[in-house]
Amino acid sequence: MSKSKSEEGSQEDLHALPLDVQVEACEVRLGRRPPDLARAHREVASALARLGTRTPREALADLGVAIALSGDDPSIGTTTFRALLDLEERTLTLYPRASGVADVVIAHETFHALSPHVSGAHAEVCANLFATAVQGLSWYAGLLDLPG
Ligand SMILES: [Zn+2]
Repeated sequence: MSKSKSEEGSQEDLHALPLDVQVEACEVRLGRRPPDLARAHREVASALARLGTRTPREALADLGVAIALSGDDPSIGTTTFRALLDLEERTLTLYPRASGVADVVIAHETFHALSPHVSGAHAEVCANLFATAVQGLSWYAGLLDLPG
């Protein structure tokens, strides 16, 4: 099914745009400020160098982070979560919403595990760009967070 191009908020329209344009449009639609893309790309390049030839799952294992599956779908208000990374407990919990996109979610969380010094909304942009690169996606992984 194709959607009308005039339909506002359609993710399908965003998928075809250049990656950096997708990132900006996505973040603005999520109510966040346009990201500092130059800085984000530097953080992602640095994290990719730390990842090396390992898969995200291998990097998490090397960091002592175990992946656990949860049957619960936690939510705070209207926000639901796909995963929770607890670096103190060394666990990455995947929730039912992660099913079907688990590798993207794991790659996203691996950025956080490799780059704990990057925080806030900027870290989310970096983690999504990292997941996009690692998974070889043509679309920004952050688009998964857009409603509908
Ligand atoms: Zn994140």
